[in-house]
Amino acid sequence: MNENIIIRNEKLAQKVIKGLESRNMTGYYAASKEEALKLALDLIPEGSSVTMGGGMSVHEIGLVKALVEGNYRFIDRDKEEDKRAAMLAGYDADFFLASCNAVTEDGILINIDGNANRVSAIAQGPKKVLFIVGMNKICPDVDAAMKRARNVAAPVNAQRFGLNTPCSKTGSCMDCKSPDTICCQFLMTRYSRHEGRIHLILVNDDLGF
Ligand code: SF4
Repeated sequence: MNENIIIRNEKLAQKVIKGLESRNMTGYYAASKEEALKLALDLIPEGSSVTMGGGMSVHEIGLVKALVEGNYRFIDRDKEEDKRAAMLAGYDADFFLASCNAVTEDGILINIDGNANRVSAIAQGPKKVLFIVGMNKICPDVDAAMKRARNVAAPVNAQRFGLNTPCSKTGSCMDCKSPDTICCQFLMTRYSRHEGRIHLILVNDDLGF
């Protein structure tokens, strides 16, 4: 990576971390995916129950693999026979892992969901939430973050899951009310009332969509 981009990312990450702190959330900066994995594993004690609601970034740093192979109780909804029971168990997990669709420079988290399992668990339930976020998700303000979520993240996810939405064909949001829409619930996390619940590792890399 170009050295000037590295410097820019470090400086921008410090701004985001300050913004997160002002909102009772904790931010960390990882210079690489490897460093992000180490930081995440330092935050999750062995023996913890851990679940997640999708999120390529979590996979991309190798965290899911490390948890599955390590001494953790990883609840994988896709593998459990009773998906509803697994989802409900997830609300009582020690850690919920996710990425964000977008994060503002002053630390507001934007997430969009179709089934709402992800945004509901971010909002409440799991004891701690750990976000893994590439620097490509940082946006100047809420307006830009919403635009990113709806014109970058949502169309890519709609394509990924083979959904019949206008954005999966055009590549940008048409504000649809399609039965397949993944833009059912919008969660804007602007403050965490619960001290120490929300943690976010910013990674000096492009992760997810
Ligand atoms: S509202 Fe519809 S078209 Fe817009 S991003 Fe969401 S699913 Fe795609």
